[in-house]
Amino acid sequence: MPNPLYDALFAPLAHRAGPLLILQDSETITGTAFHAMIARAANALRAAGVQAGDRVAVQIAKSPEALAIYAATVSIGAVFLPLNPAYTPPEVGYFLTDATPRLFLCDPAKAEALAAVASQTTLKTLDAKGDGSFGEDIAAADAQFVPQIRLGSDLAAILYTSGTTGRSKGAMLTQDNLLSNAQTLADLWRFTQTDVLLHALPIFHTHGLFVASNVSLLTGGQMIFLPTFELGTVLRLLPQATALMGVPTFYTRLLEDARFDRGLTAHMRLFVSGSAPLLAETHRQFHARTGQSILERYGMTETNMNTSNPYDGERRAGTVGFPLPGVELRIMADGAEVPQGGVGGIEVRGPNVFAGYWQMPEKTREELRPDGWFITGDLGQIDPDGYVQIVGRAKDLVISGGFNIYPIEVELALDDHPDVLESAVIGLPHPDFGEAVFAVLVAQKGRTLDADAVLASLSDRLARFKQPKAAVVVAELPRNTMGKVQKAALRASYAAWFQPKA
Ligand code: AMP
Repeated sequence: MPNPLYDALFAPLAHRAGPLLILQDSETITGTAFHAMIARAANALRAAGVQAGDRVAVQIAKSPEALAIYAATVSIGAVFLPLNPAYTPPEVGYFLTDATPRLFLCDPAKAEALAAVASQTTLKTLDAKGDGSFGEDIAAADAQFVPQIRLGSDLAAILYTSGTTGRSKGAMLTQDNLLSNAQTLADLWRFTQTDVLLHALPIFHTHGLFVASNVSLLTGGQMIFLPTFELGTVLRLLPQATALMGVPTFYTRLLEDARFDRGLTAHMRLFVSGSAPLLAETHRQFHARTGQSILERYGMTETNMNTSNPYDGERRAGTVGFPLPGVELRIMADGAEVPQGGVGGIEVRGPNVFAGYWQMPEKTREELRPDGWFITGDLGQIDPDGYVQIVGRAKDLVISGGFNIYPIEVELALDDHPDVLESAVIGLPHPDFGEAVFAVLVAQKGRTLDADAVLASLSDRLARFKQPKAAVVVAELPRNTMGKVQKAALRASYAAWFQPKA
């Protein structure tokens, strides 16, 4: 009885006596034991009243049980809706009201604080060790179950966009969206059952939940399944891994540690980076230190993955590679495709693209064209060899005195200064220019930065209108859990910078 995701990802585990998950204390969970955990979680979900099509919202710590609940939800035809544990009760309240899940799982320690916002749903609890009321339900449930029949076009998950401005939107992802992308990535990145993926990403986000977990499960490999990226643990367990998928901050943190060297990485087959731009400098440093090139790819909540640097061939720093097989990508401006090399809005189409925003038909119409093209909201360009480069988010484009300024161009120029570690360029309200270019700088370790001197160094490099009108130095840039620089937060912090003083 078909349930495409269950059949491809989870059913084979029933016959897999060998290890599937390796935990941080080196304890392992076999495929058969994990399959039994999925079956018990599926029965516990059904016992809680969850039926096909119902949403199951979870705000729980990453654990084998949490992964099994994802699998169980999909297997019984329900819709998995993971939430970042960092969300506050009012934020969780928004998601629960919007998605009306049948069941909401949270950490026992937060149950009291969340009870009020979860009053319209059934609330059960689970912690990282598997304890809590739902943990008891799982333990007591039967390990035999029959999956629900599903079509590829049925929903498997709703992931809310991390949207830093406006309301967060629920991206509806079908079984086919997830499966087609996992198959494409597994082939392109040559995953096999001999792979051991070091999995230190959160599983409330597309990167850790779908890219990492689905690819590994689909190909029958093992995962070193860590609750978070803790440098010491990652360095200790790296010798057992063949592949690592990370956000750029994983790589900068590894490079900061002298123990991370050629010896420690020689056996590794693949390092993947995504979810935020990897600095070309990090790419180069990594190569110099390990002899290997990080493979950078590009995707988003609504589309899974869109592009990837090649497995064989040049992995070009500062680019996200080529459209994935089966995925079309175009660069659009003013309703037409821009000539090769020009900058414009990135649009993608393919089996990876989501089914629309949950109960937001207008938003869906604004961003998903009737012929299937999705307007990503990212600006990009394609170099003469076909590599796609992300120039920034469309909403981060700075328009100053009528000129368009792409933050990345200014950031790359700033980052070239020997004392600058990294930078973020934003537009701030300005009485004359509408917006003015503003730079937030972080100094290289052990260096002090003179913001004015850094700005002066741009005078020969960038047209005057692109040069920041002011800059500040900060200890670090504000980032979310996926390593994305929070430009909206920076704009809010410095909003009054160019305003006339009262
Ligand atoms: P999310 O929906 O949270 O996965 O965020 C998706 C956004 O992250 C994309 O629209 C891009 O703006 C950004 N992003 C993802 N991967 C990359 C990458 N490799 N380089 C630059 N930006 C990226």
